[in-house]
Amino acid sequence: MSIFADNIKRLREVQKLEEISDTDMKLLLSPRQINKTELVLKGKKYPAWRIVYNYALGPGKGGIRFHPEVSEDEVQSLAFWMALKNSLADIPYGGAKGGIKFNPKEMDPKDLEKLSRLYIDYMYPYLGQDKDIPAPDVYTNSQIMAWMLDQYEKKVGHHEPGMITGKPLELGGLALRGDATAQGAYIISKEMIAEFLPAQPDIKIVVQGFGNAGLFMAEKLYNDGHKIIAVSDSQGGIYDAAGLNIKELIIWKNSGQSVVDYQDGRAISNAELLELETDILVLAALENQITKDNAKNIKAKYLIELANGPITYEADQILAANKRLVVPDILANSGGVIVSYFEWAQNRTGQILDEEYLKDLLGKKMKKSWDLVYSKYRQQENKISLRLAAYAIAVLRILAAEKWRGNN
Ligand code: NAD
Repeated sequence: MSIFADNIKRLREVQKLEEISDTDMKLLLSPRQINKTELVLKGKKYPAWRIVYNYALGPGKGGIRFHPEVSEDEVQSLAFWMALKNSLADIPYGGAKGGIKFNPKEMDPKDLEKLSRLYIDYMYPYLGQDKDIPAPDVYTNSQIMAWMLDQYEKKVGHHEPGMITGKPLELGGLALRGDATAQGAYIISKEMIAEFLPAQPDIKIVVQGFGNAGLFMAEKLYNDGHKIIAVSDSQGGIYDAAGLNIKELIIWKNSGQSVVDYQDGRAISNAELLELETDILVLAALENQITKDNAKNIKAKYLIELANGPITYEADQILAANKRLVVPDILANSGGVIVSYFEWAQNRTGQILDEEYLKDLLGKKMKKSWDLVYSKYRQQENKISLRLAAYAIAVLRILAAEKWRGNN
């Protein structure tokens, strides 16, 4: 199943809505730079990519994923979503993404470091604070960003902390980055709840994916008194109709255990978890979780995409027909890249910005994006999806930048 093929279909809908010319569509449909190689470690080959989808609004920006299923189609789609996300968030970046195809859980830390450095040995000419700025994604973290920064600086012979974000604090990272994606999504979820479920007590929530994005999101919603009835990780899920104790579950997960083995609740599969009776379903794992095969079984009225691309194009149509509302990835999960932008700006200017000020700025930016998307949705009398509204706003901003540059 090609993920990028879905993106083309979505872009065609934007074209129709906004009457975009074929010349402009050509600009939107072609990635600007595809770098790929095979990294060799101990005689084994590891396919690796870095793709810059668009740089009309600024340098490339997007994470690096380590996962056994990474493919060029996936990296290109993730880079495309980053371009739209950065545009919608109104931050001065194009979109990019990278990845290495392997299972980091099966690699020892020494080799993980070597492979991370090998990635930079190959990619460093294409990276830099004004060219393309990576960050963490699935199964990469601040330690990997630190190794990559170190290797890059050895290669270029100068310090340049702004070439990568999501770094440890000592190397120029921001404390705020840790839960920024969840914080942004939490702000969006509050807007959504205020709009659609204002008077409902005891809102039930299911969270798929209990990593950086999903775990902090579950914690924030739990702290607000909502009932988190199920969560899952790659091993499976855990369900308790009375609500799980998320604080304890986080301690359990952070001790290296899977949520499936947690003492309370009933173990369930990831497939079952998606189809639970709930008000809100938070998707915070990977792509293609809701497809044409299970979309009709989704009972949640509201779905929030913290993961990139968890719902396929066909599934979107089925969910819309069943009156399910989807808060799209490029809106819901942009908190991470917004805080990455703060980190980059601080690294470049040498200015230290107050954390409370930045947290407040993140909140304002998220709210502004919600207001823009929601009012476009309302202007169209709710006949388009929030996704289409968000895509249209993002695409038009990219095309305006292309126009100023004389490219269309
Ligand atoms: P992570 O590696 O911290 O966590 C991923 C979680 O998903 C883990 O708990 C893992 O066990 C679980 N998982 C993996 N496969 C699963 C499956 N099939 N079913 C259920 N759970 C599964 O990664 P993350 O940073 O939390 O990223 C999750 C998603 O959010 C990705 O799509 C990523 O691109 C997106 N995202 C993350 C950020 C960020 O700042 N972390 C920002 C924007 C988007």
